[in-house]
Amino acid sequence: MLDGKEIDLVNGEQLFIPHVGKLALCFSGGVESSLLMYLLLKYSSNEILAYTTAYSRKGFYEEQATQAVIDYCSTSGLDVSRITRHITKTTDANLFDNVNKDFDNSTFSMLYTGTNQLPPIEYMKSIDILIAHVNSNSELPKRHPDKTRDRFYHNGMLQVPFTNIDKKGIAQVYADQGLDDVFFNMTQSCINTKQYPMHCNQCPACAERYYGFGKV
Ligand SMILES: [Zn+2]
Repeated sequence: MLDGKEIDLVNGEQLFIPHVGKLALCFSGGVESSLLMYLLLKYSSNEILAYTTAYSRKGFYEEQATQAVIDYCSTSGLDVSRITRHITKTTDANLFDNVNKDFDNSTFSMLYTGTNQLPPIEYMKSIDILIAHVNSNSELPKRHPDKTRDRFYHNGMLQVPFTNIDKKGIAQVYADQGLDDVFFNMTQSCINTKQYPMHCNQCPACAERYYGFGKV
């Protein structure tokens, strides 16, 4: 394992940051990856590689959302000059090609993703839009609210610091870090809209956002 430090998040969960080497993150402009960007800027001085995939079905809004978050961090006094951006515009194929290539070439010491835990099963059963997750073969195994998952994969190079934290926990980290509504409103999670910054209020991503923050 690399030398580094652990940052306390919530419910005993932590974020590990190595002292040396480039840090990479999958940066969509959603609630979690934007928080990750903020924390990496705040608690490290490492170079940061930010991989953004912008989808045509979302009108490529990820490009605007991620830029807004970086601009916010910059005006908050964080050093964003050490960020290198990789933006892939895609119609869905070749989703993680850039990341995978650089992963194989050891371009960075640590890759972070913002995958987090689903809301409690009973809560999802009570919300029409979220019931699909309870029966999902793709979402539930990766994000089951009653399972505790490892934080590290691929010999410790891939870290999923929010894997055991749901949106309410993420909202708590936002509050603890002093991240305000301005920051939250720059993030975008909706899977239906094609415009930035808009939320449909009717998709599972919007419903999870509401579960955590009480607003979308
Ligand atoms: Zn939506």
